[in-house]
Amino acid sequence: MTEKIGVLGKKSAQLTQRSGVERVVNAPLPTVYGEFRAIGYLDHDRGDEQVALVYGEIGTDDVLTRLHSECLTGDAFGSQHCECGDQLASALRAVVAEGSGIVVYLRGHEGRGIGLLGKLRAMALQAEGLDTVEANLALGLPVDARDYGVAAEILHDLGVSSVRLMSNNPRKREALLRHGIQVAEQVPLLIPPCENNITYLRTKRERLDHHLPHLDAVAHLS
Ligand SMILES: [Zn+2]
Repeated sequence: MTEKIGVLGKKSAQLTQRSGVERVVNAPLPTVYGEFRAIGYLDHDRGDEQVALVYGEIGTDDVLTRLHSECLTGDAFGSQHCECGDQLASALRAVVAEGSGIVVYLRGHEGRGIGLLGKLRAMALQAEGLDTVEANLALGLPVDARDYGVAAEILHDLGVSSVRLMSNNPRKREALLRHGIQVAEQVPLLIPPCENNITYLRTKRERLDHHLPHLDAVAHLS
């Protein structure tokens, strides 16, 4: 018995020593958009399970790529509070149209990194008139706590050295550069705004530096 515990103890010690991102599985994932490979990773530093959806033969350079921050309300429920669900669908369609590409779906990024409950609390404050930045600050939470190191590690594992990044967020580009992934191009992912998210999108543009030129055309929505 003592010996058994000793073996288990040794095993868990080995597990805790491991760091970084480990590729665990590569499974076919047929979707309404096309036939992807779901490549699953375990982030040993944070304990998060992560997944990259890979379409076609991606190569190493100029790979059309989206780093999608998890958003349960937008991605799964079709929330109109943000444009995440439409961005995810557009990104998946774009890599299929391109013939190859990657969508890294980043768990732990809910509400720009404040968690699902934090995000819902921030949404409740936004319903009372605060903007998305003010709401996080009012809760004593960071405005953006997302880390893209894991995404860069996944791209390195997939053999990618440069991407064409589908994003309106300059911080994602800067983060990838910091982590050794070149960004050959930033490809806009512009979703037509609706009445429910125009204020949120304007805040993203004005306070978080997102590049959203298409909002100029919808000045009448408020
Ligand atoms: Zn969202």
